[in-house]
Amino acid sequence: MDKPVLDHAQENIPAWHHAGLMDNAHPILDALNRPLRDLRISVTDRCNFRCLYCMPKQVFGKNFRFIHHKDMLSFEEIARLARCFTNLGITKIRLTGGEPLLRRHIERLIAYLADLKRPDGKPLDLTLTTNGSVLAQKAQLLFDAGLKRITISLDAIDNDIFTKINDVGFPVSNILQAIEHAVQMGFSPVKVNAVIRKGINENQILPLVRHFRNTPVILRFIEYMDVGSTPWNREQIVPASQIAETINRHYPIEPLNPNYPGETAERWHYQDGGGELGIISSITKPFCADCTRIRLSTEGRIYPCLFSAEGFDLRELIRSGQSDEQIAQAISRYWQNRSNRYSELRKELGRQPAEHKVEMHYIGG
Ligand code: SAM
Ligand code: SF4
Ligand code: SF4
Repeated sequence: MDKPVLDHAQENIPAWHHAGLMDNAHPILDALNRPLRDLRISVTDRCNFRCLYCMPKQVFGKNFRFIHHKDMLSFEEIARLARCFTNLGITKIRLTGGEPLLRRHIERLIAYLADLKRPDGKPLDLTLTTNGSVLAQKAQLLFDAGLKRITISLDAIDNDIFTKINDVGFPVSNILQAIEHAVQMGFSPVKVNAVIRKGINENQILPLVRHFRNTPVILRFIEYMDVGSTPWNREQIVPASQIAETINRHYPIEPLNPNYPGETAERWHYQDGGGELGIISSITKPFCADCTRIRLSTEGRIYPCLFSAEGFDLRELIRSGQSDEQIAQAISRYWQNRSNRYSELRKELGRQPAEHKVEMHYIGG
């Protein structure tokens, strides 16, 4: 790279944008006419939890080889790619992992991304998904760097169940305090994601609802998915309809309109004014037709789908001296060829499509 990009210098609208590679009213479309709108960036493949459905200890044990530091994208490289993506029309960036708050000085990257402007001059919608374990210590730094919204994963209120799920004995009280702290600090919205599995934590649906009702926190339930090569037990899926019924029996809810097309969560609210909640039905009601997300791995490969094994290497382009314009053209071509619709296929076939998949901790949720 010829000059630093983390110095906050803003030159977001390069010549190739004006040359018509994209214009904001006509975003790049994939083979199924889906615009490129969201970028998820995995900033590390490491995590201090060993959630059974994501990084089980038997696979991610002491001998597991995580990505070497020199193979990770640097903040400068991530920032540069984020700028290319922004100029191609993305409107939202989510930082994820692994556990993104384990990447040292993540606030420096956030400061740069928070300052990025879209071609129409508007800021990006910037957010981050975390397990919350070190959030209390880092929240002020993140907020000051420009992160104003956040999602925290929390699958149980009961401490025994929570510690079993994270499998490292991490206490739930720390996460609950971190969530409260984030709300008080002014993060908005604060969202909490809970993956529900039959026989593991379905009895936590109502305790989670009770804990977050009548607070500013938006609780979102997620159907358990077959990500990566972690063994998946279909029998453990709790369908979104069942989650909604369970809640509705105790706290009547009704649907809300989506905030925008392609929103992953179906929005609901409590009829008594207790606030909003969401349910993400990736298995029973797939939303591939509206999927506008691309994923950038820690090593700098882009993936068109959470379930695709084949990525495309952008790090090689950066490190071999390609210009922003050349990188943007490569991304555009890649997106234009995209036809992935794994979750729809899974539903149509009634089984998992026979595809190898990239690991969840490697490209983030
Ligand atoms: N470590 C951070 C965290 O847990 O929030 C960010 C990365 S994590 C891979 C992102 C999200 O993916 C989390 O909300 C997690 O619950 C979700 N997730 C992981 N494995 C999943 C699975 N098998 N099915 C559904 N969601 C899953
Ligand atoms: Fe770590 Fe998040 Fe995966 Fe749990 S879900 S193992 S916290 S990356
Ligand atoms: Fe998007 Fe792939 Fe998920 Fe479908 S399965 S919604 S294409 S990430």
